Amino acid sequence: MELFDAHLHLQLMANAAEVAAELASLRVGALACGVDPRSWEADRALLADVGTPASPIVVAAGLHPWWLADGRCGSPEAELLASICARTRWIGELGLDFSARRIERLGKEPQVEALTRACAAAAAASMAGQERVLSLHSVRAAGTCLDVLERTGAATRCRCVFHWFSGTTDELWRAVRAGCWFSVNEMGLATGKGREYAKLIPAERLLLETDHPAELGRPWSAQRVRESLERALALVAAARKADPAELQAQLVANARSLLA
Ligand SMILES: [Zn+2]
Repeated sequence: MELFDAHLHLQLMANAAEVAAELASLRVGALACGVDPRSWEADRALLADVGTPASPIVVAAGLHPWWLADGRCGSPEAELLASICARTRWIGELGLDFSARRIERLGKEPQVEALTRACAAAAAASMAGQERVLSLHSVRAAGTCLDVLERTGAATRCRCVFHWFSGTTDELWRAVRAGCWFSVNEMGLATGKGREYAKLIPAERLLLETDHPAELGRPWSAQRVRESLERALALVAAARKADPAELQAQLVANARSLLA
C-alpha cells in the first residue's frame, strides 16, 4: 500500500466495484464510508474481496447527519446502525452537522441521539485489539461531538477519526487530548486553517482522505482518488516542512495501525 484514503464514499459511486479493483492495482487502500445503514449488507456484498492484504479496502456502515437532517433516515435507521456496531469494526460516516440549513427542519436532537446510540454501541462492542473505528463528520458541532464521544466511552474505547476537522483550535486540542485521529483532504488543505491544523496534529494520528466522489451516484475513477491523495500529501508535507517520502511512509504506517 502506497496511500490510504481514510474517508472515501466508494459504495456511492455508480461503478464502485470497478473503482475498488483499480484502487487495489494502484496500491491505494481505503475506508469506504456509507451514509445509510440500510445499504451496509449490500455494500459489503458488492465490495467483498476487492481489497488485498497489501491494499485493504474496508466497508463501513454509516448514517450521515444530512440523511437525518432531511428525514431520509430517522430513529429506525439510528437503531439499525447501533445494532450493526456490534457486528463490524468499521463505522462511518456518522456525526453531527449544526450548520443552519441542517438543523432548521428537525433541530439538533435527532442527530445527537443517533450519534449517542451508535457511539454507545460501538464502545460496548470494542475490545482490546478489536477497537471500533469511527469516521466522524462534525460541522459547527465539534464540542458536542466530543461530549458524546466522552460520555459514551467511545473516545477511549474506539479509534475515533475526525474527517475534515473544521472546529476551533481549542476544539482541535481537546480532540487531540481525547486521543482522536484526523483525516485531512485537499479541500481542507486549500485553507490556511486546514494547513495550520495539518501542522498541529500529532504525526502518528494523521491520515489522508478524499471524501470522493464529488457527486454521489455518478461514475468515478480510482486515478482521481490517487491524484487527490497525492496532492493532499504534498500539501501536508509543505505545511509540516516534512520530507514527502518520510511523511508518506508515516501515513501508511498510521493507516496500518488504524486497521490493525
Ligand atoms: Zn463524507
